Amino acid sequence: MKEPDAGANPPVDGSELIRFENVTKRFGSNTVLDQLNFSVDSGKHVTLIGPSGSGKTTILRMLMTLTKPDEGTVTVDGQTLFPAPEKQLREVRKKIGMVFQQFNLFPNMTVLRNITEAPVTVLGMSKDEAEARARELLDLVGLADKAGARPTQLSGGQQQRVAIARALAMRPRVLLLDEVTSALDPELVAGVLDVLRDIARTTDITMLCVTHEMNFARDISDQVLMFDSGRIIESGAPEKIFSDPEQDRTREFLSAVL
Ligand code: ADP
Repeated sequence: MKEPDAGANPPVDGSELIRFENVTKRFGSNTVLDQLNFSVDSGKHVTLIGPSGSGKTTILRMLMTLTKPDEGTVTVDGQTLFPAPEKQLREVRKKIGMVFQQFNLFPNMTVLRNITEAPVTVLGMSKDEAEARARELLDLVGLADKAGARPTQLSGGQQQRVAIARALAMRPRVLLLDEVTSALDPELVAGVLDVLRDIARTTDITMLCVTHEMNFARDISDQVLMFDSGRIIESGAPEKIFSDPEQDRTREFLSAVL
């Protein structure tokens, strides 16, 4: 027999990891996110596309708890972020790894130490375990021979691959990627995207990705969200969005970037 309806709360899908509900963010008179609603299930790869200034980075920053919404609710793994006690925010941050446009590696540490530092100091992992894991990750990103190098001895693409390994070392549930190839010389982009394709294919990590690399987005995404002026104007499977978008605005945007 069907269970009776529990009441006004909508049923929460057990696999839902991220939810934005009626989220609005303003900077002065600039409404950057406008009553935004979307959710991401565990293990899915979601790409955020849209013109510059449409609010994509603000979403990633909210998930990192770096920016608060003015209205609405952001939930990660069943925990509401704002307001939440600092202890709870720290727990949520541990579930989220972020890779930025600029790699932000610690210049005075070796590659290996860049990767082991947070697992040892934040997660309390033993040095041996953290190093073993770091070497596995360096292998995954194709840099097994660079463990002892300093960041300045690496190309931008190699540094970004270290940054990806560093994010994964914390065993996050979610990987946030914010235009991670935008600062790279063109010939280094493919190597980084190949690593991310591998990660998308071989791990169960949830990915939220802001990118202008549309072929990459088409390859890895389960869902694409098209943003304009702080709203999602269209969403769907990549085959649909990239080949047969419903909105003229999406079509215009894609013809400008493809
Ligand atoms: P996108 O990632 O789509 O390019 P962003 O989320 O970075 O868009 O920015 C959306 C809008 O918010 C832009 O108009 C930007 O100038 C503004 N914005 C972002 N952060 C701040 C801030 N700290 N103070 C004022 N305005 C901001």
